[in-house]
Amino acid sequence: MKRSLRTQMLVQYVVIVIICMLVIPTGISKLLDRQFRLFASDRLRDDQQEAVRVLEEIYSSSGGNWNKEMLTEFRGDILRWPMVHAVLYDPDGILIAEFSRSMRHGAMRGPGSGKDSNEIPGFMRPIAPELVMNDFSVSSGGKVVGKVRFHCLPFRESREGMFLKKFNSHMVYAIAFMLVVAVIISFVMADVISRPILNVSKRASLISRGKYRVQDDLRSDITELQLLIDSINRLGFGLEEQEELRKRLMSDIAHELRNPLTIIKSHLEAFEDGVWEPTKERVKLTVDEIDRLSRMISEIEKLTSIENAGKGLVLESVNLSKEIERVAMTFDPLFRAKSVELKREIEKDVMLAADGDKIRQAVENLLSNALRYTDSGGRTTIYLEKAGGDVHIKVRDTGIGISDRDLPYIFERFYRTDKSRARSSGGLGIGLAITKAVVEAHGGSVTAESREGEGSIFIIRLPLA
Ligand code: ADP
Repeated sequence: MKRSLRTQMLVQYVVIVIICMLVIPTGISKLLDRQFRLFASDRLRDDQQEAVRVLEEIYSSSGGNWNKEMLTEFRGDILRWPMVHAVLYDPDGILIAEFSRSMRHGAMRGPGSGKDSNEIPGFMRPIAPELVMNDFSVSSGGKVVGKVRFHCLPFRESREGMFLKKFNSHMVYAIAFMLVVAVIISFVMADVISRPILNVSKRASLISRGKYRVQDDLRSDITELQLLIDSINRLGFGLEEQEELRKRLMSDIAHELRNPLTIIKSHLEAFEDGVWEPTKERVKLTVDEIDRLSRMISEIEKLTSIENAGKGLVLESVNLSKEIERVAMTFDPLFRAKSVELKREIEKDVMLAADGDKIRQAVENLLSNALRYTDSGGRTTIYLEKAGGDVHIKVRDTGIGISDRDLPYIFERFYRTDKSRARSSGGLGIGLAITKAVVEAHGGSVTAESREGEGSIFIIRLPLA
């Protein structure tokens, strides 16, 4: 059965509170009960022994006899609460005296006084039906001279028992009160924790429905929750960005495919209708447009390269110096054609365990960007050097540069600056994403520094180990 987080927490809090409130006070009450019972029975025994001692004194001070007058005189000392009744017999079982006290007033009946007192029937009947009996012998000069039987109220009627009863009943009220307070606090606490989570989950569900940016200031004082809120917000922004890039890409692709297609179609129709002679130049124009189309398609094909960039690396010992030199050589004619100087500063015989093809692809992307975004008369330099435990491959150009606004995003797939889009030679914005994926798959990193209008430098750092 599904429950809301708030209900779940509330139930848990309340269960914990109830367990604590029942277990702890019950334990305390049990412990007190045991201690008080021990204490009460010790005291009762002491009092009974004291009563026996008084009876023995009476016997010996009346010269070895049971003196009824003296028994009457000492009767007040004999019974202490919770003893309520005592009967004294001689060794032959003949009743000598009976003592009793009211359970309320502590009154006592001596020998012969039973008839004019109401207390005997009173104590036997209503309040204490189950009296506890204890028998003692009364001795004098080493000889048993009598037997006394004490009738006592049960523990719960003793002072200690009464105290415990009162204590327990007060504790029940206190527990009931504390339970109410604890349940109220549990409500508040469950609310404090569940509300922000509820809000975050609402936001997550909005994001899942495509509403990436929500204009409210969701905050929480709980560190973990704040982290969750921040992550969800970042997720929303990231998805929005991706969505934006995707839309831009789609419209770019559509736009860039339509232009050459329209041109090709119009040329072919003109040839077909005989409006134009298919001269060599016109056919070449058409073929150029077809080339443009294939370039676009191979760019689109590169998209899958991003996914594969980090997969299936074939590591081998690669002479990076030679590989970089080879890449530079393949670019030489292109740079020359655009009148951009391509310089190299390549440290000799830098060896690295790497996937040579993929590293070459990563560097080619940097060089083709440098060429693409540097105007004629500019310069590009490619460096290879060891630095600490790393190898650095740098591509510096004197091209158009990248604005601070764009710089953080250029490694994201499909990201293209407005300027690069304005340039017909611009790609789909995936070259740097491929470079990044390849470099990271080798355990390295790639960064860019740039100033608009002055040029850029891209640095690939690969660990030597
Ligand atoms: P593209 O195929 O569009 O060049 P990339 O992923 O290679 O895509 O680059 C992303 C964007 O970064 C480019 O569109 C361009 O705006 C910018 N960029 C990359 N390299 C350079 C550079 N050397 N100089 C200026 N801008 C660059």
